[in-house]
Amino acid sequence: MVECLLCNKNFRNEFSLQKIFSFSSLTNSQICHRCEESFNSLNGKRTCTKCGRLLDIKAINPCADCQHWQDPDFTNRALYEYNKAFKEYMVKYKFMGDYRLRLVFQTELSRVINKTKKMVVAIPVNPDTLKTRGFNQVTGWFANVKYYDVLTPIDTTKAVAQSQKTRKERLELKQPFRLIETAVSAIKGQDILIVDDVYTTGRTIRHAAELIRNAGARSVTGLTMAR
Ligand SMILES: [Zn+2]
Ligand SMILES: [Zn+2]
Repeated sequence: MVECLLCNKNFRNEFSLQKIFSFSSLTNSQICHRCEESFNSLNGKRTCTKCGRLLDIKAINPCADCQHWQDPDFTNRALYEYNKAFKEYMVKYKFMGDYRLRLVFQTELSRVINKTKKMVVAIPVNPDTLKTRGFNQVTGWFANVKYYDVLTPIDTTKAVAQSQKTRKERLELKQPFRLIETAVSAIKGQDILIVDDVYTTGRTIRHAAELIRNAGARSVTGLTMAR
């Protein structure tokens, strides 16, 4: 019996063949079947081609949120729907800082990233947050993923964290990053994959994409755990 990292109940860790070969299931079995089922994998589902959000059959594609973006080249893929279960997971992992919870999605995300063969850039955490939390929630999900520190947050004095701002305030935010000087030459001509935790308004990842594209990357796409 193993203790589920999310609900703390004991469960039998079954390594069925079906599970081993299923690419949609969470690997490593860190959580029980019931918790696993509460997440909604977007694998194979109809999603917005620009932001990766789950779309029902009738919804327009790109979705309404994406209609106003002026950067036709940027696309984002998300692995999970940002539903109640994912929201609760992020509260425990990111805001309460339970580092063990990185294991829930680590294998799956790392596998998806490494399949792309792109140069990986993680959205950085601002230094004050990093001091309090102790880890970057995005790179915490990386196992055997080679990534590059390309971006650095500009305004470290901002008192209000991104997640506490209203949607309007977030959209009005100016460029929150700058490029690390020494990284600029490494970006040139590369296909870049920017990885973030949750795609909310898209502002953060698009700001990052804009900087990297302007520095001469050949292509820039996004990958987020949830949308
Ligand atoms: Zn559970
Ligand atoms: Zn969209």
